[in-house]
Formats: sequence, C-alpha cells, structure tokens
Amino acid sequence: MRERICAVSVDLDGIECYYRIHGLEVPRPVRDPVALDALPRFRELFEGRRIPATFFVVGQMAESGLGHEALPALRAAGHELANHSHTHPYDLFRQGPDAIAEEVGRAHRAITAASGAAPRGFRAPGYGLSPELLDAVTAAGYTYDSSVLPSPTYYAAKAAIMGVMRLGGRRSRSALADPRLALAPRHPYRPDPKAPWRQGQSSLVELPIAVSRGLRVPVIGLPLVTAPAPLRRLLVAELCQEPVINLELHGLDLCDADVDGIAAEIRERQPDLRVPLGHKRAVLGRTLDEIATAGYRFVTLLEMARLAQRGEL
Ligand SMILES: [Zn+2]
Repeated sequence: MRERICAVSVDLDGIECYYRIHGLEVPRPVRDPVALDALPRFRELFEGRRIPATFFVVGQMAESGLGHEALPALRAAGHELANHSHTHPYDLFRQGPDAIAEEVGRAHRAITAASGAAPRGFRAPGYGLSPELLDAVTAAGYTYDSSVLPSPTYYAAKAAIMGVMRLGGRRSRSALADPRLALAPRHPYRPDPKAPWRQGQSSLVELPIAVSRGLRVPVIGLPLVTAPAPLRRLLVAELCQEPVINLELHGLDLCDADVDGIAAEIRERQPDLRVPLGHKRAVLGRTLDEIATAGYRFVTLLEMARLAQRGEL
C-alpha cells in the first residue's frame, strides 16, 4: 500500500483582505493580527507536532515588517514559503498578462529577498485560477500550483453571498472564477494549460485543496473551527479516506477578535472571529492529531508535488 501523505498550508491573508471581501474601506494604518498574532500561534501548533508546513506569503507583507525576522525563522524551522501574489487581488485571474506577471514576479522577488529562498509554489487569491495565470506561474519556473478548490458547494455559496451583498448595495471585491474549476480532479494532476480544470500536459503539478468525497464540501480551516464537534469529526473521517490530503488553513483560523483587538466592523461580519482562540487551537490540534493517528506522513506542498511528479502518490 502506498504511503499516505498530508500537507498543511496556511494562507497569510492579512486583515485588509477581509475589509476588501466585505466591501469596506481599509483603515490606515491597520494593525494586522495575522502577521503579529496568528503566525507565532501556527508555529507553535505545527512545531509541537514536528509538522513541516507551507506558508503562502503575500508579497507586500514580505516587503513590510513581517519579512525581516519572521520569514527566515519559518524557513529555519523547516517550513516552506510559497507565493500568494503581491497584493492579493481577488480578480487576479481576469487581469491582463502584464499585470499577472507583475503580481507573481514582484511577490517572488519580495519573498526571495526576505527569506533567502525562492518560492517554488503558487496559490491564487480566492482560488481563482485561469489559463493566463497558470501560464505566468509556469513561466516563473514553479514546481506546483495549489489554487484549485474543486467544490461546487463553495462556488454556489460564494455566488449567493456576492448576490446578496449586491442587493444590499455593497460590492464585494471578491470575484468568481471559471465554474469548471468546481469539477476539477480532487487529487494531484498535471493540468491542461488551456483548461487548468482538467488533466493535461503542463510542466507543473496542480495540488487541489481538500474537499470531501461525494458532496465535495471544502475541508478547510473555516468549517473545521466553526462546525459542531460531530460534524467536524465526520469531515476529518472523510478526509482520512483519501491517499493524499491538502489541508488549507488561513491566518484568521487562529485569530480571535476580542484577544487580538479586531475592529467591530470585521468582527460582526466574520462569525469565525467570534470563536474563542482556545477552541480554535484545540480543534485544529485535534484535527492534526487525528490525521497523524490515521497514519499520514506530513510533508510540505513542495515535497508533495515532487512525489506526484515521480508518480509516487
Ligand atoms: Zn488568500
């Protein structure tokens, strides 16, 4: 029987991304609890369990204060740093080739300069992959992309929320990518450069984010920290049926609006920020322990991509 592999990643989307999702003006200056509070908490969560994780870094964060100490320290602790675009534009997939190349390239340079190592993997903001974006990531010589969330449930929910916001006169800066991504393969594959939602001959590997079998419910940090205990256990049990798990978390999964002093306008729109930090820590820790007990070996996404390239998954 093949070895079972799990990669855990954290998208370090700063608090300002959430102002944009909810169509709010970003206050300046804004304190970022993701870089300042959540990042050390994730290190503790992973390093106490000897888990090498992948952190998707937004380039402008690497250019700011976060870069100088936090990024080299993450690398030294055995974690991977990957590219999550430069400014996290939710509609990156529909921008022109020059703008896309600039977002990928500038983040690449910022993360390399701050950490001393060049990223080998990319994740698009808001799961929005397009042929043009895949082209830019391939041209940058990356080993893998991990933008695809193959979940019709997610697409339907996102479209509904954006529609409701529009009715209320607010405009989310979020954007809907090609719905065919919702039916992309659930396991690592080489994408078709012209249609990245299906198998093809790309030189890089696509590592889709974990969804459940059947209904394809996203099994990411948000449902894990907010679901009632029996549902969370069910989701993890579903995950542990898979040979490969690509578990995606976000910085906000270890933030707490009260503890971290997050503004009321964000707190009231993000129910997950009202879940106490102690509960989030316990639930994510339990999830990782259950995956380990089920016999999975934890690797970075880069290692997962290399195993996939060698046909060892
Ligand atoms: Zn993101």
